[in-house]
Amino acid sequence: MSNQLEILQKKLNKAVKNRELIESARQTQLGALTQFASKLSLVCKGQDLELDNKLAKFRSLLSKGVDFEILSPLIEEITNILRAQETKQDENIKKLQQSVNDAGKKLQKTKGIPDELRRSLRNLLTTDLDEIKATSDFIPLLSRLVGIYHQVLNNKHGNLTATPPEIAPELATELLNLTSELAFEGNNAKQLDKIKKQITKNFQLNALLEACINIIRIVVSSISQERDTAQQFLINVNETLTLLHQTLLDSVQRSKEVGHKMANLNEQIEQKISQLAQETQSASTIDALKLIVGQKLEALTLDIKFKEDLELTERESLASTLKEMQTRINSLESESNKYKDRLAEQRFKSLQDSLTKLPNRAAYDERIALEYNTFSRNGHNLCLVIVDVDHFKRINDTFGHSAGDKTLQVLANALKKSIRVTDFIARFGGEEFVIIMPNSDLKQILAPLEKIRRTIKSIPFKFKTTSLRITISIGASQFKSGDSILEVFDRADTALYEAKNSGRDRIIIKK
Ligand code: GH3
Ligand code: MG
Ligand code: MG
Repeated sequence: MSNQLEILQKKLNKAVKNRELIESARQTQLGALTQFASKLSLVCKGQDLELDNKLAKFRSLLSKGVDFEILSPLIEEITNILRAQETKQDENIKKLQQSVNDAGKKLQKTKGIPDELRRSLRNLLTTDLDEIKATSDFIPLLSRLVGIYHQVLNNKHGNLTATPPEIAPELATELLNLTSELAFEGNNAKQLDKIKKQITKNFQLNALLEACINIIRIVVSSISQERDTAQQFLINVNETLTLLHQTLLDSVQRSKEVGHKMANLNEQIEQKISQLAQETQSASTIDALKLIVGQKLEALTLDIKFKEDLELTERESLASTLKEMQTRINSLESESNKYKDRLAEQRFKSLQDSLTKLPNRAAYDERIALEYNTFSRNGHNLCLVIVDVDHFKRINDTFGHSAGDKTLQVLANALKKSIRVTDFIARFGGEEFVIIMPNSDLKQILAPLEKIRRTIKSIPFKFKTTSLRITISIGASQFKSGDSILEVFDRADTALYEAKNSGRDRIIIKK
């Protein structure tokens, strides 16, 4: 009997403890969510009524302590509105860009523009306007960020009753990989750098939530800054072009009128001259002749003077119109330069290779420096791998450069898919790729590398009628205490060289 009581007591205690655990986890979760909501509201306020409302609802539900199951779809709705809003704003910019282009085309067709002016206009319209990129590239990134945020939350939520593993190194790496695609200038860059360093040090779920929120804030605010600047610049270009067009039309109209007047005058003058010729014939005395000639010449002189004046005014007015136009174009040019500077401060510098969509060499440089810091601090395992496609030049030579390009895209995709989520891959250049493999030593990476090698070899390439297998050679090395990044890279490179020389399609590892 007393034994049973004891068991019951224990069960009760356990239940109370579990409840406390759930309570405290819920508190932290609520805290993070509230922060998420208020940061998003701060960034998006006043841009979209529906979004404002949803965020307000979100905050009010939070304060009432509603379950995660009810909040979760709301987060998704908010993400969708955010995405739709981005698209809407991008459309606005596109429309504005289109109207600037139209204004420019109209202007190009207008007669009477001096060559130099036409040239600088063309430059402005073809090159400078191209600099304005749609921000839509960053929408997928933003949704991925919110996606990771959601995942971290699910992780917390799903583990409430079990002993919660409060760390998620894999999500941390995923977040870090995502930030590798982002690069800012100035203040945003510093902030992002700080966040990245924190991610490598701390895999705690709460810290990851915080990091997600902060990155979202930087991305969103940067997008809206860039968009505002772009929009303002486009508005200015458009206004100036419209004005220019009007001025030109006016001046064309004026020259037409002047031309008309001039033709009348010419006719008048001709008439007077022929009249003079007739009348001189009919004059019977010298005195009468003198009188007629005198009068007519006076009238003719006046006409000619009038004609000269008219020509002079027309020349002057044309000159001043042209001068005014040149000044406007010049100021537009300097504005365009200012715009580019401002854009350079705010814009995402691309860390993505445009052909393969993999992180590029700059992204690798940044990432390896980060991993190297962690390695120097903790001395955990860190491996560097260089992959080079075998005889790639032959593909280009035999099937053409664009076939080569497509092949590179397929290879990059396959490589990306065959590495582990915690690995990082970049296109180092040409047909060379570099993989960073943290938390494993050379023995442990051999099997995954072997898998990669075989995966690539198994892709059935087909160029027109020729079927082909493509192989890769791999060189790898591991960071040892005292190594510099360059030393390890050189070792991996030497290993790769050996792999090439000993027949290609193989992996060589150098300690
Ligand atoms: P190896 O097995 O010794 O590596 O032979 P390889 O032909 O792959 O090496 P090599 O370095 O001689 O040639 C690399 C070729 O890759 C040369 C270049 O034309 C091609 N290449 C580099 N980047 C690109 C690219 O972006 N597109 C295409 N189509 N070809 C590229
Ligand atoms: Mg090669
Ligand atoms: Mg090469």
